Amino acid sequence: MPVPVSQMWTVASYVLGQKLAGRKQYPLVLMLEPLFRCNLACAGCGKIQYPAHILKKDLSPEDCFRAVEECGAPMVSIPGGEPLMHPRIGEIIEGLVARKKYIYLCTNALLLKEKIDLFKPSKYLTFSVHLDGQREEHDLAVCREGGYDIAVDAVKEALRRGFRVTTNTTLFDGANPKSVRAFFDEMMELGVEGMMLSPGYSYDKAPDQKHFLGRAKTRRMFRAILSNRKSSWRFNLSPLFLEFLMGKKTYPCTPWGMPTYNVFGWQKPCYLLQDGYADTFAEMLATTEWSNYGTESGNPACANCMVHSGYEASAVNATFSSLSGFLATVKGTLFSSYPDKEALRLLEEPVAAVHPLVQIEGAESRSLQETGA
Ligand code: SF4
Repeated sequence: MPVPVSQMWTVASYVLGQKLAGRKQYPLVLMLEPLFRCNLACAGCGKIQYPAHILKKDLSPEDCFRAVEECGAPMVSIPGGEPLMHPRIGEIIEGLVARKKYIYLCTNALLLKEKIDLFKPSKYLTFSVHLDGQREEHDLAVCREGGYDIAVDAVKEALRRGFRVTTNTTLFDGANPKSVRAFFDEMMELGVEGMMLSPGYSYDKAPDQKHFLGRAKTRRMFRAILSNRKSSWRFNLSPLFLEFLMGKKTYPCTPWGMPTYNVFGWQKPCYLLQDGYADTFAEMLATTEWSNYGTESGNPACANCMVHSGYEASAVNATFSSLSGFLATVKGTLFSSYPDKEALRLLEEPVAAVHPLVQIEGAESRSLQETGA
């Protein structure tokens, strides 16, 4: 099932409306984090490192609706934490569907089968299931044996019930491009609507700091993965963002394109960095020193960043900023095989062993208790 035409039309007309209104900074996707608790303790994620009193906090449905209305973005991504652990997630989703927002509920799917009756299939709701590769790679990345099988089982059940399902995959240094390509085949065979990809970002709080990718390595890895592409693969990403990952395009970061709202308020400047919070979306836009961020700023925190939440909105903006950007998007959509002999050679290069399991002390027992709550 492809992305519904109504979603494409909603997003395209929204971006064109912003352009015609002369707005330079507009949000495309609201990153709504209703909690930080999780039932996993992934080595590349820093969210569950908050102290217990923060991990206990939830955004109320009313908080979520107010943020969505303030922001005005046509799409809402709900990461976390694990959103399915939120005690009122059903109400939150129902309210966002009623507001006709296109929602990507990002989940590790461990609780999806158990909670699926809270939701009704809708063109506005997509389960974006976190899968970081084939069985072994995923289980290592999320530090949980059996996590892949549970997630795939839940994907099958959600598809059987008529839900929209995509995958989201974060890749770190040591990812095996051949295995990633085989993973794409597996996901397409499962019948998911599309796949999202991003290189990992080095969170200060992440327990495993050794395996984040520099920009040159990121481009090399994605060139190997995304060149000589199979026609069966569908990505839920702008073709220009994929070209950016492959090193074929350069864009400045647009951190306001995917603003973050969570239990602290509106996060400055982006989903990844925390340089303060604002009470309103307008205040966050007006009071953030945007020139201090992005690769060109010289900010060391941004030096190696190529993540989806910073650059997908840049790629979408490029599509609608010029005729050449629009034509490049059409070309990337129609001719997506990107033949490349050097990339075939890169696929044969030996890959360093994948990173070992890094278990955060105490996290497993805490999160299991929360799962059962
Ligand atoms: S470059 Fe990355 S870390 Fe820096 S502002 Fe953009 S998204 Fe945030």
